[in-house]
Amino acid sequence: MSALVHLDGREVRATLRMSAEVVVVGSGPAGAAVARRLARDGVRVVVLEEGHHVEPQDFESTGLRAMASLYRDMGTSIAFGNSPMPYLQGRAVGGTSVVNGAICWNFPKPVHDAWAQADRALGEALPFEAITRAETELEARLGVHPTEEHVAGQKNLLMARGADALGVEHRPIRRNTAGCLGSGRCLQGCPHGAKLSMDLTLLPDAVRDGAQLVSGVTVTHVLSDARGAYGVRGRSAAGAQVEVRATRAVVLAASAIQTPVLLRQSGISQGPVGDGLMAHPGVSVTGRFDTVVRNFVGATQGHEVTGFRPEGLKLEALGFDLSILTSRLPGVGLELARRVAELDQYAVYGAAIRAEGTGKVRPGPLGPLVRYDLTEEDVRKARRGVRRLGEVLLAAGATEVYPGIPGFDSVVRDPRRMAAIDDEGSLDPKAYTMSMTHLFGTARMGSDRAHCVVGPDFQHHHVDRLYVADSSVFPSNLGVNPQLPIMALAHLCAERILA
Ligand SMILES: Cc1cc2nc3c(=O)[nH]c(=O)nc-3n(C[C@H](O)[C@H](O)[C@H](O)COP(=O)(O)OP(=O)(O)OC[C@H]3O[C@@H](n4cnc5c(N)ncnc54)[C@H](O)[C@@H]3O)c2cc1C
Ligand code: SF4
Repeated sequence: MSALVHLDGREVRATLRMSAEVVVVGSGPAGAAVARRLARDGVRVVVLEEGHHVEPQDFESTGLRAMASLYRDMGTSIAFGNSPMPYLQGRAVGGTSVVNGAICWNFPKPVHDAWAQADRALGEALPFEAITRAETELEARLGVHPTEEHVAGQKNLLMARGADALGVEHRPIRRNTAGCLGSGRCLQGCPHGAKLSMDLTLLPDAVRDGAQLVSGVTVTHVLSDARGAYGVRGRSAAGAQVEVRATRAVVLAASAIQTPVLLRQSGISQGPVGDGLMAHPGVSVTGRFDTVVRNFVGATQGHEVTGFRPEGLKLEALGFDLSILTSRLPGVGLELARRVAELDQYAVYGAAIRAEGTGKVRPGPLGPLVRYDLTEEDVRKARRGVRRLGEVLLAAGATEVYPGIPGFDSVVRDPRRMAAIDDEGSLDPKAYTMSMTHLFGTARMGSDRAHCVVGPDFQHHHVDRLYVADSSVFPSNLGVNPQLPIMALAHLCAERILA
């Protein structure tokens, strides 16, 4: 067993009882940040994580094998709605940070202003300066810095060229890496240990300060009585019952999907728990170049176009392994075979949409049931996203791009045809192949007990000593990649518990 993991649930075959001051469910950015901050002040913390610990050298190299070992449901979790789409989550020690793109953004001030305007007590309890202070500390620990040109690879450099040609704002992505070799495998887990995910940073900090991390344990219930929460119950991967009693707090950091499920499964269903799911659905477009691009090498996500944010769109270079890149190519038979033979000439860019759509999460017989619907405005943004992606690819030198919208040209070579998408692109939500990786809002924070699940101090409105530290508490989506803001808010949640 690694030095990081105190117990591995695959080896826990008899009933396990533990006690702590604070038990934390989940070891992703939220759970790791809260455990680290508490342990630093000497609090006895136990972290329970359903996934397993995988060392960097043991990460799978292909996308499909990595999904089987590091992603929840092997990456097949689906949100149903007017445009059914996969939502992706990691399931490992370190949570989704193990498989994410390492992109770091700060909490946007306008989002904080909107939260504070809607709920003054929330704004006062969670001042922007406190979020910034937490982010500054975390950024230093995580080595956040702009992607260096020598590891960027062609796909990222071409994005810069395309944005320059169009005159739109762009920049190298700031990432939490140290010694990145540009191997393009962030979404499969970095084999070089260069992505500074939670398993390599905040969790070892917490364990060094005395926290105990138990992997391979699925928490099924929060234990509470009239006096408040006093522990959690679950089962180990080997099938044994696990119970952890906590004298000071129970902290849920299981993500915006699993946290509301856990609450409802435990009979804690006051307030809009599981309602109000928000996201940043993403669309992507593939472009073909006459030159070698090798989309699968270079920093996985090393460049972004920020100039379309006023349109609710943020464009990012994407890096997939060959199996997934192949699935992005159009055509059948000989036409497809020709494209597959040129696999090193393609680049794939994605647009994350700040969507208005909302959804619901409920416990189901086989796992969470997720419903999510796009608004008509979201579909317009998706359509605009495809247009902008195609324009950047063509401006970067792509000879053809594949918008992938049924009823519209399957191959576009002229930027004027990309602009025509605004008029001719379908407004049927199902016309856009989308996926979600940023999830928010299913146990909202706020001072109004009827419409919020936790208070501005992260504590449940109706169950004392029960805290929610993940992005379930965010009253809205952010419009930017959320891992650093999630860590910052979890850090502040820990400080509320300490207070
Ligand atoms: C492919 C991909 C790429 C991404 N890229 C970026 C990026 O570059 N930058 C960025 O900012 N964001 C990115 N994100 C999003 C970001 O990683 C997440 O928003 C963030 O990890 C959420 O943190 P969290 O701690 O709330 O949840 P998670 O990271 O999902 O962690 C929750 C943990 O809780 C565990 N858990 C759940 N239920 C239970 C239970 N019942 N019992 C025990 N354990 C449980 C899970 O197994 C998981 O390990 C990406 C996401 C994906 C899927
Ligand atoms: S690009 Fe490769 S080396 Fe760099 S952080 Fe990602 S997986 Fe690691």
